[in-house]
Amino acid sequence: MKAISVLGSTGSIGTQTLEIVQEFPNQFKVVALTAGKNLPLLIEQVQSHNPEIVALADKSLLPELQENLSDLYKIKKLKKIPYLTGGVEGLNEAASWNQADLVVTGIVGCAGLLPTLAAIKSGKDLALANKETLIAAGPVVLPELKKTGSRLLPADSEHSAIFQCLQGTPLAKNASLSTGIPTPGLQRIQLTASGGAFRDWSTEDLKKATVKDATSHPNWSMGKKITVDSATLMNKGLEVIEAHYLFGLDYENIEIVIHPQSIIHSMIELADSSVLAQLGWPDMKLPILYCMSWPNRLKTPWKRLNLAQIGELNFRNPDTEKYPCMNLAYSAGKLGGTMPAVLNAANEEAVAQFLAEKISFLNIPKLIESACEAHKNDLKTNPNLDDVLIIDKWARRNVKEQVEKNQKSL
Ligand code: NDP
Repeated sequence: MKAISVLGSTGSIGTQTLEIVQEFPNQFKVVALTAGKNLPLLIEQVQSHNPEIVALADKSLLPELQENLSDLYKIKKLKKIPYLTGGVEGLNEAASWNQADLVVTGIVGCAGLLPTLAAIKSGKDLALANKETLIAAGPVVLPELKKTGSRLLPADSEHSAIFQCLQGTPLAKNASLSTGIPTPGLQRIQLTASGGAFRDWSTEDLKKATVKDATSHPNWSMGKKITVDSATLMNKGLEVIEAHYLFGLDYENIEIVIHPQSIIHSMIELADSSVLAQLGWPDMKLPILYCMSWPNRLKTPWKRLNLAQIGELNFRNPDTEKYPCMNLAYSAGKLGGTMPAVLNAANEEAVAQFLAEKISFLNIPKLIESACEAHKNDLKTNPNLDDVLIIDKWARRNVKEQVEKNQKSL
C-alpha cells in the first residue's frame, strides 16, 4: 500500500489522482490533502479519503473547514477529524508529511514552489505536475534533489512519455532520476503539441479570441491556466524548459512538433538513430498512474488504443510567428538563471489579466517579452531561492504596471 499526498487536490490533476486512488483501493491510500479555497469539494474529499492532514492555502477559511468537518463527523460518526492547518507553513507541513511515500504536486503556478521544495527536502518521491516550480527554480530544485535523494517522476504527459521511453536506457554513471544529468544514449527529444484551442485560427481571428474560446481545449480537460497556456503554446515552451531540467539535454536538441490528435505523447531519438514514442488516448490519468505505480505497471480497465479506428496521425512544424511564446521560452531557457522565473511569473500574471478580461489574447506574449527584456541586465546566472522569490514578485508587478499604464491599448 503506497501512501499518497495530493497537493492541489481540488484541481484537475488532484481530482484525477483521487479517482485513481479510488480505482485501486488495495494499492494506494491518501494521507495528506491540500487545497486553495474550494471548501465544498475539499470536504467531500476528506470524507471519502480520510487523510491524516489537510492544509488550506487560504488560512482564513480554516475555522469554516473545522466547523463543517466537526458537524459532519458527529452526524456520520466517522473516525477522528484530520489535523487541519493552513497558509504556506501548513502546505509545507502537508507536503513533507512523514507517512507519505509519494507526493503528487497538482498546485497550479509558482504557488507550488515552496511545498514542492518542502517535499524534496524531506526526501519524498514526487509525481511532478506543477511544472512552474521547475521552470522558475530549476537551479534551486536540482541541487536539492541530489542532496536528499528525492526523485522527480514526471506527471506531465509529454515528460511521462519521454520517461517511459527511457526505461531501459541506462542513466549516466552516478546519476539518479531527474537531476538534469543527460542520459548518454539520449540524443533528441520531440515534444508533441496538440496546438491548443486556436490550432487552426487565423491571426485576424486570434485578435478577437475570448476567454471562453481560450479555455475550451480540443483534446484535454485541464485547469483554466494551463488551457490558456495551451492556446498561446506557452505550455509547450514551458515544457521545453521542463524537459531541459528533467532530462539534461541542450535546448538545440529539444524540439516541438504539432500533432493534432494527441495520440503520441512525445518521442525520443537515441544514439543509434532509433526513435521511441509512447502512445495512448489523451487522458492524464495514465501518466499520473505511471508515477504512482512506477516502476510497476498496474492493469487498468481503461479504453484500449485502436490505431485503425484513429486512421491517421499528422505532424507539422509549429508556427512560431503566430505563437511567439515558444520562442520566448527557448530564449529564456537558453539564458537560464533567473530568466525562466521571469518568463513564468510574467506568463502567470498575463494569463490572469486575460482571464479577468483586462487584456486581449494577443497581448499575453507582448507583456511577457517586455518583462523578460526589462530583466536582461539584472539576470542572475546561479540564483538561490530568495533570488527566485524576489524575481517572481518583480515580474508579476512589472506585468501589472504595464497593464495599468497601457490599459486602453491592451
Ligand atoms: P487547476 O486550476 O485545476 O487546480 C489547481 C489546484 O491548485 C487546485 O487544487 C487549487 O485549489 C490549488 N491552488 C490554487 N492556487 C493555490 C495557491 N495559491 N496555493 C495553494 N494551492 C493553490 O490546475 P491543474 O490541475 O490543471 O494544474 C495543476 C498543475 O499541473 C499546473 O502546474 C499545470 O501546469 C500542471 N499540469 C496539469 C495538467 C492537467 O491536465 N490539468 C496536465 C499537465 C500538467 P482550489 O481550487 O481549492 O482553490
